[in-house]
Amino acid sequence: MLVLVINCGSSSVKYNLIQTEDEKEVCSGMVERIGAVTAIIKHHPANSPKTKLTKFVANHSDALQEILNYLLDEDNAIIKTPDDIKAVGHRVVHGGEMFKDSVLIDNIVKDAIEQAFDLAPLHNPPNLKGIEAAEERLPNIPHVAVFDTAFHHSLPPHAYLYGIPNRLYRRHKIRRYGFHGTSHYYVSRQYYKLTDKPKADTKVISCHLGNGASITAIDGGDSVDTSMGFTPLSGMVMGTRSGDLDPSILFYIIEKEELQLNSLHSMLNRHSGLLGLSGYASDMRDLIAEANNGDRRCQQAIDVFCYNIKKYVGSYMATMNGCDAILFTAGIGENSAYIREKGLENLEVMGIELDKERNENAKRGEITKISTDSSATDIYIVPTNEELVIAIDAAKIASASNQSPWV
Ligand code: ADP
Repeated sequence: MLVLVINCGSSSVKYNLIQTEDEKEVCSGMVERIGAVTAIIKHHPANSPKTKLTKFVANHSDALQEILNYLLDEDNAIIKTPDDIKAVGHRVVHGGEMFKDSVLIDNIVKDAIEQAFDLAPLHNPPNLKGIEAAEERLPNIPHVAVFDTAFHHSLPPHAYLYGIPNRLYRRHKIRRYGFHGTSHYYVSRQYYKLTDKPKADTKVISCHLGNGASITAIDGGDSVDTSMGFTPLSGMVMGTRSGDLDPSILFYIIEKEELQLNSLHSMLNRHSGLLGLSGYASDMRDLIAEANNGDRRCQQAIDVFCYNIKKYVGSYMATMNGCDAILFTAGIGENSAYIREKGLENLEVMGIELDKERNENAKRGEITKISTDSSATDIYIVPTNEELVIAIDAAKIASASNQSPWV
């Protein structure tokens, strides 16, 4: 089935057109800077060169039309009519407590996504905007919402409750939700496919290390703990997000720096993490290059990031009573041998032995074992593919089949 996967930000629409039978991407691209004087429009058809142009795009609905125009263009020969697209899969960041699976979008689902606006003010409003724009442009096909939080629905109360008055959970649903669920789900399923260990008896720690980063403990196929919490701000130090803090620091900063709440929000989300620590960059490649040139603060930012990896891996080994595999994914996890090595250094005592040569020589974009043969815990690089999970879920729901291709 040909499925259009859509991921909307406040001023961007990313898309992937995926043929689900053979799990092949037909075309991908994005429209950025929607509403600005010139938007940037990029397309990348499979087996053809990328294209890029700039023009004014007023809103998300027009961005969707731009994408459809490109796919329908006779010269590009990607689809003949909009009817070739059989379903649309929408990435939705926050499903609150309501959604433990992907769902066919109707008015009730849209209301629920809107109710979660307060929980994810940066993500859910543009996600809903994207749904409404796509429904307008492709009105006759099923639209399916796939939630970043859904995979973490299995967290037990001792992992999702915070140590604050319980009424705040009951009244306002303040709890750990967790994010990057489709990625943690996908890479763990890829690992099960590789091994003959039964899923029910397999314990995995999945490290999604990109600009946003989270680590998840997966026991018997279910997420049982994860580093992100009520919002994607918590857990590990990330590109620009602070990760976990002593909450008293917030009161202290407000007082000492005379900050308004919205400035504090922006500081913690956009100017903290690796960027804040280094004072130089949020991008790991830039930090590694500058640290190699002798910049002490860049090296410190890297050290904090790697120490975070080690702390989460160690604590999830403890809470799960062991671990069969550690999986690395996303931009940093897939591409940086240095961060993988530093994040798992000196963990031999826990049965974690990285093979330095395999780690260094891992081929980009391939599932690769990087542990030694004697390591009690497997270590793998598993390239993520969140869009494929979204496409397959959308196809499954659109065809009303309950058969999941995933184990
Ligand atoms: P997101 O999807 O969260 O925006 P990505 O998964 O694309 O992020 O990851 C982006 C991060 O991956 C950046 O910090 C980037 O520097 C890092 N990255 C990509 N390639 C490498 C590499 N070869 N070495 C180190 N870091 C890398």
